[in-house]
Amino acid sequence: MSNALITIKVDGIFNLHSLRENAVQYDVAIIGGGPAGLAIASELSHNWRVLVVEKGQAGTTKRSWFVPLNVVDDKVRPYTYGGVTRFLANTCTGAKAQWKARLFERYPYVDETRLLPHWVSVIRDNGSEVLDQCEYRSHEVGANGVSVDTSKGKFQARLLIDCSGYNSSIAQQYGISRAGYYWWSVYGAVGDHPNGLHGMEVGDYMMWQTFADTNTNPDASLQQGRPVFEYEILDPRTSFSLILYLRKEILTREQMEPVYQRIIREEASTAAFHDMDIKEIKYGWYPSASVSQELARERVIFAGDAACWTTPCGWGMSFILNNYRDFSGKLDAALRADTLGRSELAAIPHFRFRERGEIVLNAVMTHFLSDAAAPLLDRFIGLFNPASEYHIDPIYCEKVFTLDITTEEVRNMMGTVLKAFTLKELLSFLPPSEAGLLLEEAAYFVGESVLEEARSWFHLGAVDPVGRGRNHGFDFV
Ligand SMILES: Cc1cc2nc3c(=O)[nH]c(=O)nc-3n(C[C@H](O)[C@H](O)[C@H](O)COP(=O)(O)OP(=O)(O)OC[C@H]3O[C@@H](n4cnc5c(N)ncnc54)[C@H](O)[C@@H]3O)c2cc1C
Repeated sequence: MSNALITIKVDGIFNLHSLRENAVQYDVAIIGGGPAGLAIASELSHNWRVLVVEKGQAGTTKRSWFVPLNVVDDKVRPYTYGGVTRFLANTCTGAKAQWKARLFERYPYVDETRLLPHWVSVIRDNGSEVLDQCEYRSHEVGANGVSVDTSKGKFQARLLIDCSGYNSSIAQQYGISRAGYYWWSVYGAVGDHPNGLHGMEVGDYMMWQTFADTNTNPDASLQQGRPVFEYEILDPRTSFSLILYLRKEILTREQMEPVYQRIIREEASTAAFHDMDIKEIKYGWYPSASVSQELARERVIFAGDAACWTTPCGWGMSFILNNYRDFSGKLDAALRADTLGRSELAAIPHFRFRERGEIVLNAVMTHFLSDAAAPLLDRFIGLFNPASEYHIDPIYCEKVFTLDITTEEVRNMMGTVLKAFTLKELLSFLPPSEAGLLLEEAAYFVGESVLEEARSWFHLGAVDPVGRGRNHGFDFV
């Protein structure tokens, strides 16, 4: 155990009343030194004694993030760079969309190699601890606090925050089910382009690209859901290109690697990548699921991927940056008031209230990616083509993923989707639970009478009139 661990700050802020023998007392114990754990600890450590427990080395996540500019606060801004200036989309049928960002650097990159170590320094400078190579094993909740057992000994805290990521064993212990989740599986590489970018520009972001033969993959397990190719051009020699599957199952590295290799080495439409040297492989996954699950237990609260902050279809880092200060402020108040019971913690909002239209759009986009037949997904991507009669601004897609979209933009996009697809087509791949949501939203655009028949096909009954505007949860079950 390091000396730092037994340094107790005696300025009266820390609550030491339940200090037990053989266990160091903290106000807050955070499991996981990834972006969620470090961001929240960097805030809470201003007023409380915090312990971050990380089984590897805190702050060394290697994922590569770009995030909406409006979630970047002054504290994080120095650790961002560059950004997307050109959104592109490309379908296997040849439809292309290209859109130059009106607001320059609308989506900057986060320099993970600097931001995360910066948070570690803030936590330590505030007198709190980050313990590396320290694995959480179990915990017990008592009347005055939580006893946490780790590979480096036992610790006491008043509050436990689980930031251990998508595979949280704490959530599993509490029986929080992930059975209904969808998962984004990601495989890609940061690449060096020694011969230049072959027409691609720094700031390019290929949002979604599909390929003709992706659903004829001989591996039967890859036939549901389709790989979507994305890339970001980071500088005149460097790209980050990746494939994404959004599905019920997490795909293995071994399943994804050959698909990625074929796409970047053999597809005619990715010729600019054929001579790329791979510098660093990136592989991982993150959840996309319920917004309505209960995210707290007695003296325990979940955050980040462990609480599915990526919900419903968004990006985890963006959610962390968008919410960590507000969330930490609410925890600070709960610690001061000593309101750390299950129902009190469960009442703490994790992120801003979403409107139903936004939830429905998330559902529609998720199921286009995960369940729609290839021609339907390609038609959807084609809506972003400036030459298309519909032409949706591609930025809307990113705004949907980051819960960053205004009500008016939701209405525009929803209205266009409902014009470009028949209800029958949309209902062919939306599960019945979300079909009801879509019909309620569709009523706004096409009128009640047209929907009566559709409701009867799906035995959905009448719309609850008070349902409009309510947060429905988007549970995917
Ligand atoms: C390849 C890839 C690209 C991505 N790109 C973007 C993007 O462009 N924009 C965006 O917004 N989001 C992006 N994401 C999503 C984002 O990275 C995640 O949502 C985010 O990392 C979640 O952070 P977290 O701290 O909750 O979890 P994690 O990053 O998973 O961190 C959890 C930490 O807990 C530790 N831990 C786990 N179990 C234990 C234990 N028992 N004891 C101690 N420590 C433990 C782990 O070692 C880890 O350090 C991407 C994800 C991937 C995989």
